[in-house]
Amino acid sequence: MRQFTYTCPKTIEEALKAHTSEAAFIGGGTNLVDLMKMGVERPARLININRLPLTSIEEHEGGVRVGALVSNSDAAAHAFIRERYPVLSEAILAGASQQLRNMATMGGNLLQRTRCYYFYDPSYKECNKRTPGTGCAAKQGFNRIHAILGASEACIAVHPSDMCVALSALDAVVQVTGPKGDRSIPFREFHRLPGSMPQIDTNLRPGELITYIDIPPITYARRSTYLKVRDRNSYAFALVSVAAILDLDSGGTLRQARIALGGVAHKPWRATKAEGLLAGKKVNERIVREAAEAELANAKAYRHNSFKVELAQRSIVRAVIAAGEKNA
Ligand code: SF4
Repeated sequence: MRQFTYTCPKTIEEALKAHTSEAAFIGGGTNLVDLMKMGVERPARLININRLPLTSIEEHEGGVRVGALVSNSDAAAHAFIRERYPVLSEAILAGASQQLRNMATMGGNLLQRTRCYYFYDPSYKECNKRTPGTGCAAKQGFNRIHAILGASEACIAVHPSDMCVALSALDAVVQVTGPKGDRSIPFREFHRLPGSMPQIDTNLRPGELITYIDIPPITYARRSTYLKVRDRNSYAFALVSVAAILDLDSGGTLRQARIALGGVAHKPWRATKAEGLLAGKKVNERIVREAAEAELANAKAYRHNSFKVELAQRSIVRAVIAAGEKNA
């Protein structure tokens, strides 16, 4: 058994001071504890941050500010979020189970690690994300759940979160604090593509702590949907998911579409090509299909996941059409 120390700071300052290169912050622990049990994560020091005052959901600059320690359940059920950002509530409720959502925190959800089977099983020696420089067992192995966009020779894993797909479409901003002070990270820049360093999932700097997630005001955010396609209807990760938010004028022409994909890349994938092609068009299946095909034009599939290319295209069409039928 590997031993670790455990501390429960009461202030953000104490938490930051307690952090060292061998430490990990723990909130709900719904991913970190699994990873520790499997021997994938081996922190020498756990810093329990659950006493920090980061549990509020408040109106902020016309939008909403969600504390990093708000549970996924509380965020999904909050009247303000359900009313103004239903895509976020739907995405959270599509993930995990009720018990896990009760424990999991908003900040922790951003930091959950890939569900690649080979990453979780240290008996497989080849995994560049777990042990840099060892290779990638998934490329020649069973890769049905893996990436089709933005992957690298080093890693083809996908990010597992549903919530983050909605936050990407909403252009949320992640507020962090650390040894060098506070900073804001636009959501699209928070997670990384794997490149040659797949062991690093995010652009958080060493010792930084997520404090809040800010969601800007979006007047049309009610015209949205979250579509998740998975092997079974609950407690399964997305094969493909789509968050779509549409700004339509009174004649049904799209002023702006916000589309993000899950289950296809190492980070929530913002479908900017499709968004660009849809701007100024009236929504119909043919137009959306053309935009979806353009978005997936550079997709690269592996032995077991080529079905995801067609699935992603169809899912974009379904989600955009469904969002277009809602009232803003
Ligand atoms: Fe490891 Fe990434 Fe390859 Fe999975 S896809 S085995 S996480 S390097």
